[in-house]
Amino acid sequence: MESIKYTRVLLKLSGEALAGDKGFGIDNDVVNSVAKSIKELTSMGVEVAIVVGGGNIFRGRTGEGMDRTTADHMGMLATVINSLALQSALENIEVDTRVQTAIEMRQVAEPYIRRRAIRHLEKNRVVIFGGGTGNPYFSTDTTAALRAAEIEAEVILLAKKVDGVYDSDPVTNPDALKFDELTYMDVLSRELKVMDSTATSLCMDNNIPIRVFSLEDPNNIIEVVKGKSIGTLVKG
Ligand code: UDP
Repeated sequence: MESIKYTRVLLKLSGEALAGDKGFGIDNDVVNSVAKSIKELTSMGVEVAIVVGGGNIFRGRTGEGMDRTTADHMGMLATVINSLALQSALENIEVDTRVQTAIEMRQVAEPYIRRRAIRHLEKNRVVIFGGGTGNPYFSTDTTAALRAAEIEAEVILLAKKVDGVYDSDPVTNPDALKFDELTYMDVLSRELKVMDSTATSLCMDNNIPIRVFSLEDPNNIIEVVKGKSIGTLVKG
């Protein structure tokens, strides 16, 4: 039996990461390779719940000339599109997967029901939470924190395009410094761009550690679950 550090994880995939180098939409190669890593996790006996972002398709705050609530509804629908793409990639490689949405669309997916989600996880099914929290003015990072607390996940695996948390933007500043470990308070007081403050506070209040790493190599997901210190760890 392979050694594993976590038995129930909440994987947050940003929409941007799913777009790969295309920057927009869904890169099938990326989705397929992420699906393969998720399959490996389930075969190691790890219970995997996933929250997917929507930034590769639509972000509420960029919806110009539109009221914020309508734009956020569009953003939440974008996360459902990504959820279905990921479900399809997982089922293609025989991983039982259920999508649950915070906004009801019963013809498309199950509604979010916490107890049912937990039951799926116990049966070794991957559960993808689509539709964010179902509320405007929130983010999918906050959704990840909320669902992680609800299902009692041991950690949030925050898979991004960047390989950890830096003191400034590593894309524009070549001297940006990467942190190995941070406290929630550091993130909040230094306004580090890991998660928004709502999501960070929710993790802090519920003591949920966050491991931030790059999805460039989808194998990172497996290494992190095995206990390797990749990227940045945010905890109390
Ligand atoms: N969104 C929302 N409520 C939520 C989660 C998401 O209104 O609970 C909307 C919001 O407009 C957001 C968009 O969905 O911009 C996509 O989510 P996010 O920006 O978090 O995706 P990511 O940056 O992770 O790709």
